[in-house]
Amino acid sequence: MKILSVASEVFPLVKTGGLADVAGALPAALAKQGIHVVTLMPGYPAVMNALENYEAVHVLDKHFGGPARLLRGKARGLDLFVLDAPHLYDRPGNPYLGPDGKDWPDNAPRFAALALTAADIGRGLVAGCMPDIIHAPDWQAGLVPAYVRYGGGPKTVMTVHNLAFQGHFPAAIFGTLGLPPVAFGIDGVEYFGGVGYLKAGLQCADAITTVSPTYAREILTPEDGMGLDGLLRVRSNVLHGIVNGIDTDIWNPASDANIVQTYTAKQLPKREANKRAIEKRFDLDSGKGLLFCIVSRLTLQKGMDLVISALPKLIELGGRLAILGSGDTKLEASLKEATVLYPGRVSILTTYDEPLSHLLQAGSDAILVPSRFEPCGLTQLYGLHYGCVPVVARVGGLADTVVDANDAALSAGVASGIQFSPVTQEALEHALQRTAGLFADKPAWTKVQQTGMKSDVSWTRSAARYADLYRSLLKAH
Ligand code: ADP
Repeated sequence: MKILSVASEVFPLVKTGGLADVAGALPAALAKQGIHVVTLMPGYPAVMNALENYEAVHVLDKHFGGPARLLRGKARGLDLFVLDAPHLYDRPGNPYLGPDGKDWPDNAPRFAALALTAADIGRGLVAGCMPDIIHAPDWQAGLVPAYVRYGGGPKTVMTVHNLAFQGHFPAAIFGTLGLPPVAFGIDGVEYFGGVGYLKAGLQCADAITTVSPTYAREILTPEDGMGLDGLLRVRSNVLHGIVNGIDTDIWNPASDANIVQTYTAKQLPKREANKRAIEKRFDLDSGKGLLFCIVSRLTLQKGMDLVISALPKLIELGGRLAILGSGDTKLEASLKEATVLYPGRVSILTTYDEPLSHLLQAGSDAILVPSRFEPCGLTQLYGLHYGCVPVVARVGGLADTVVDANDAALSAGVASGIQFSPVTQEALEHALQRTAGLFADKPAWTKVQQTGMKSDVSWTRSAARYADLYRSLLKAH
């Protein structure tokens, strides 16, 4: 079976969030299921620089305002189609935002061009490369199912990594998309009088997936449906929740080159060397006390305001906190203020630093993920795999992947972290208190770490579920 995956970001080439990790790791996991994935990416500078042994398989004089070439090649082990359209993608920095931090004003044609190219490949544009299914994640690929519905092509799967990012554009862009007039309607791409890329995908795809069973249920409600819950309820018979995995070759504490000291579940005291390294990098007091970390976009979604409010409690419990992340300027400023208020106890680095994110998981005692909503979340999965106990809000994928250390779970030996609900300052403080209590009981704490490290967070099971879904779509005519 051949799948064309359309991804606006793929680790290790371009990454702003979890989508990149998924798009980077799933092809190898699906290959083990006998499924060949080719990924279509925009020709961002980082992609063009990494592309090897490529050939131009199609040339367009004019593609959404300029010349473009479709390249076929490899980069970092990934089999790629790259849409080389310099007028759309040859820009430095973030793939979606300009230097002013605002969306690029031409994001509508940038990602329509990508989607139309995917649909064209699906219709046989490149000889010998006709996919059986096109897998389209997020708003950037949202128009793919619409182009296929109105212009023909294979079955499509739309994946939602985060319903908060929907790709809304004014109605005026519709005429530039090359879709028939009938597509501008409630059954097509129209959304509240404008054009909704994610909405189009959810409306037109043969199947919809999201990245955890709990999030799949949550997005059917007005509270978490972000305005799309009505549509999703209508389509709930084709909606599936499949939890993300992690790439356990890249994320393996026994062989990770990014950490100071490698270790296995039987060698947990070795983690101390990583803790010392974190203390140095973050200029934190050295000590045996509870070290929390956060690796995250600093946003309200991620509950960073709650962390700020709960800091006095964290300090009172003898904890320290190392934060790696950036985002909302106000939250960043408040966290920086906290580092002044609690020197040696709270520290933040606002860089994007992949190796340091590994070290934090390898040396911190616990990772805080107090998200208000979390489609799947990856950092708690890395935490589980590294013996860095996840302390998480009981929402979305966090609820599905972490087993709360209540008495029943502890006595059954299945607890792997701490969950709290509702997502409030009080509940977070209570969770911090429970974490400190568990940490003080060394045998129990070690058992929770080891249980987490034993949980299967690889792609194996989830890749099998995607494979089942693809097969069921090909069977249904
Ligand atoms: P989201 O996609 O909503 O941002 P996820 O938890 O699904 O959240 O994925 C975030 C990914 O980005 C994880 O791999 C995490 O380790 C990584 N990450 C976030 N911030 C940083 C940072 N400042 N430095 C390095 N990695 C980061």
